[in-house]
Amino acid sequence: MAQRTIRIRGARTHNLKNLDLDIPRGRLVVFVGVSGSGKSSLVFDTIAAEAGHQLNETFPPFARNRLPKWTRPETDEIEGLSPVVVIDQRRIGGNARSTVGTITDAWTYLRLLFSRLSSPHVGESNHFSFNDPAGMCPACSGLGEVVVSAVDRFLDLDRSLAEGAILLPGFGNGGYWYSRYADIGSFSPDTPLRDWTEAERQALLYGGEHAARLGTRPPADYEGIVPRFERIYLRTSDDLSDRKRETIARFTRSETCPECRGDRLNEASRTATVLGRTIGELARLEITELHGLLDGVTDPAVAPVVTALRNRLRAMITIGLGYLHLGRATTTLSGGESQRIKTVKHLGSSLVEMLYVFDEPTVGLHPHDIDSMTALLRELRDKGNTVLVVEHDPAVMAIADQIVEIGPGAGTGGGELVFQGTFAELGAAGTATATALGGRPPARTRPRQASGTITVANAARNNLRNLTVDIPCEVLTVLTGVAGSGKSSLAAELVAQHGAIVIDQKPVSTNRRSTPVTYTGIAAAVRRLFAEHSGLPAGRFSANSDGACPDCRGLGVRYTDLAFLDGQETVCETCQGRRFTEEVLRHRVAGLSIADIDDLTVADALDRLPAERIRQALRHLERVGLGYLRLGQPLTTLSGGECQRLKIARELRDTAEPTRYVLDEPTTGLHPRDIATLLDVLDQLVDRHHTVLVIEHNVDVIRHADWLIDLGPGPGRHGGRILYEGPVAGITDTVTAAALHGEPA
Ligand code: ADP
Ligand code: ADP
Ligand code: ZN
Ligand code: ZN
Repeated sequence: MAQRTIRIRGARTHNLKNLDLDIPRGRLVVFVGVSGSGKSSLVFDTIAAEAGHQLNETFPPFARNRLPKWTRPETDEIEGLSPVVVIDQRRIGGNARSTVGTITDAWTYLRLLFSRLSSPHVGESNHFSFNDPAGMCPACSGLGEVVVSAVDRFLDLDRSLAEGAILLPGFGNGGYWYSRYADIGSFSPDTPLRDWTEAERQALLYGGEHAARLGTRPPADYEGIVPRFERIYLRTSDDLSDRKRETIARFTRSETCPECRGDRLNEASRTATVLGRTIGELARLEITELHGLLDGVTDPAVAPVVTALRNRLRAMITIGLGYLHLGRATTTLSGGESQRIKTVKHLGSSLVEMLYVFDEPTVGLHPHDIDSMTALLRELRDKGNTVLVVEHDPAVMAIADQIVEIGPGAGTGGGELVFQGTFAELGAAGTATATALGGRPPARTRPRQASGTITVANAARNNLRNLTVDIPCEVLTVLTGVAGSGKSSLAAELVAQHGAIVIDQKPVSTNRRSTPVTYTGIAAAVRRLFAEHSGLPAGRFSANSDGACPDCRGLGVRYTDLAFLDGQETVCETCQGRRFTEEVLRHRVAGLSIADIDDLTVADALDRLPAERIRQALRHLERVGLGYLRLGQPLTTLSGGECQRLKIARELRDTAEPTRYVLDEPTTGLHPRDIATLLDVLDQLVDRHHTVLVIEHNVDVIRHADWLIDLGPGPGRHGGRILYEGPVAGITDTVTAAALHGEPA
């Protein structure tokens, strides 16, 4: 009989403190705790990592090299795992061939339908695949787009050839190609291009007939700069260097393929019809509409295919994605949309006894849409799977079979099991989560006074219905509406029209050496502090100086290059990872050596380091609730929410001029307790006369707004209108109003 629990003993990943835990299998378990308490360290970096690692071990080495790499967690023991599927908010890859249809397999069924029923009859289903040579449009190879020269960017008409009028690399005066254009005697090298005749400019660009028409002047073999650019950059099969790629990005643009007009298929396949519609037309219909249309397919021979297709479509509608269309490229989906699409994909799977691990599945969902997500989580469990969810939303906690809280605090103050039991039992547990659920941050009773407005005019991006909206200045505006109603599109228009700064959750750095120390720029001040206390020159306390350990050159680790295996990183034996020579390490400030500084949390450093300049830089981090970060923690390990708060900290410190800020769902990854901190930070921005626009679903944030703009009523083409603009207290009759008043919509 299969083991009924996942048994974890002595977990020590990141901040976990020798954690022991038994998790029931076949249940829905929700992990809660303040931000930075160790939920992800436990669920993703311990449980999922070990499950992934064990699964990989079952494959032969050559296959293992192609599988995702898992870092084995630090634990004494983990038992009772099964194959794991991680469903996080990472966007679905950068592959232009992936669409909502292909990723959910709905396209496979639609292709089958066309291969059986379409007229004129074309035969096999791969003829309707744009990823198969039998089906793809020959002009764009099934991408639906072609790359063409952006000729308008090639020339600077105000300059002469000698002054570098041809902006392409190598064509400027003295460049590799220059003499072939300037010195052939056909074009005047010193006349600005604007003063040439149109015929001359065409000849310069295209050569060939254009050049011939100018008379005898250009040599017969003269090649225009456009054909030459396309030959060298676009029609080459060579591997492209980074520089060539940059040039291509600058001097080309993507256009809808002129042959298939974006349908991606060859002529026979894109003209065949079912129910009088082509497959391309069906791919552009909203999923809701496509689902309804399939009622019209009554041929019993295809009944199983139609049922399978409708099931897929229904799952997408249930999860609030009925406004998408199958042809939508997955690269354009938001993080939340990507996560929901991945969930649909797995619901279709008939595997059982799997381990599913979710990272905040309610991100991007309006309170109105959350019920459909919780229904999907239950459905996965009821198929016989174990479902583990990291989540802050009480609606998800409420449907859990069991709740596990990690805490009590963040970072070194967390990493322990503080509660395990039902949602009802949590209420009396007195933990940070129980407390936060009991008392919500106060709603704003009196809105702050705006200082003028800025107008976003005629916004028509994506689904927006030519909106003109006033955004009040120097207050907090919250933009609400169901997923897909057009919030991000409107925010993007604000940015495009008025140049607002977007404070998003993208990584602040991809460099493993970036840390809070480098980010806040306190490194020099720290070295100076040690210099003052020791009498040594400040440079000795730099890891790039002769104060550094000679064997690892200040890295603390050494790399072993193992030819065809992955390189190995081991702690330097000479300095034990402490990076400096014994002599340097002997000098202390407030009892700390230079190597100890990296282990301090921001809050510790504020308590212990006696230098006002350092404390000033760090205070902003504490202000945004990041007091628990270690000074030496690589910024590549921060979550999206942490990155966002770090960026706010930088803005608080650096920006004096009144500025416009846009934040998209800043409560992502935040525990209810931390939402109060976030609201406080947003208020600090407003206090400094900044204008803040926040896209949010979180009710506490909405209640804190000075001004509310509610979009809707539905997603996609059912949305894009303004339902309400005004103070929060005045909103009625929308799903947002219902959520605010805690009523079912
Ligand atoms: P939560 O998911 O509860 O927000 P995490 O598990 O992400 O918390 O983080 C717990 C602690 O471990 C935090 O102090 C965080 O900064 C730290 N941490 C997270 N990832 C890493 C890592 N890769 N290396 C070192 N520390 C990390
Ligand atoms: P919200 O932010 O309210 O969730 P969005 O502004 O992201 O809504 O989307 C509004 C509509 O525009 C939706 O129908 C969405 O599918 C569509 N949309 C968003 N981005 C793109 C894009 N890059 N290409 C095509 N359609 C898009
Ligand atoms: Zn094409
Ligand atoms: Zn060393």
